[in-house]
This record gives sequence, structure tokens and C-alpha cells, in this order.
Amino acid sequence: MKIEMDLKRIKKLAAALDDENWEFRTFLKGLDLDSAELDAIVHRINDEVSAQIDCTQCANCCKVVRPVWMRQMWPSLPPVSTGRSRNLRKSI
Ligand code: SF4
Repeated sequence: MKIEMDLKRIKKLAAALDDENWEFRTFLKGLDLDSAELDAIVHRINDEVSAQIDCTQCANCCKVVRPVWMRQMWPSLPPVSTGRSRNLRKSI
């Protein structure tokens, strides 16, 4: 199966298939599976799909998601106002 990587096309497809996605969600809620079984299926599918995706070619998450950091995580990180750390958001 070819994985769609064009973010604009993915957005259009998601909008076009919104009703179908809601039907699938309803279907999943009606399944006679406990959450561990459903999680196992989702993790298996995620592993298969993720193996076909190179996030370094897309980098969308790096553009739209701002990492959150806590000083305890990286005590040697320079002050937030300098260099690369300027793009990090300090947690509350
Ligand atoms: S960078 Fe983000 S949006 Fe792009 S492929 Fe990876 S997870 Fe998906």
C-alpha cells in the first residue's frame, strides 16, 4: 500500500472522508474487544505504517509543533532566549 505523504492532499482526503471516519469510529466502539486487544492491533498497524514514513523528508511536525521542555530534563541547556532553544516552550 502506498502511503500518502502530500499534506495538502491528506487534508482534503480527511475532509472528504469525514463521515466514513466517524462511521469507522462508531464501528470500533461497538467491537467486542477489550482495550488491550484494540491497542495491540493499533500498535501493529502503526509499526507497519511508520516503517514506511521518513519524517525527515516531511518535517511538518518540526514546523508546527513546539516542543515543551522542563529544566530538570536538560539542566545544561542554554537560556531559552539564545540559539536553538529559542524555539522551545517552557512547561508551566
Ligand atoms: S513529520 Fe509529522 S506529519 Fe510528517 S510524516 Fe512525520 S509524523 Fe507525519
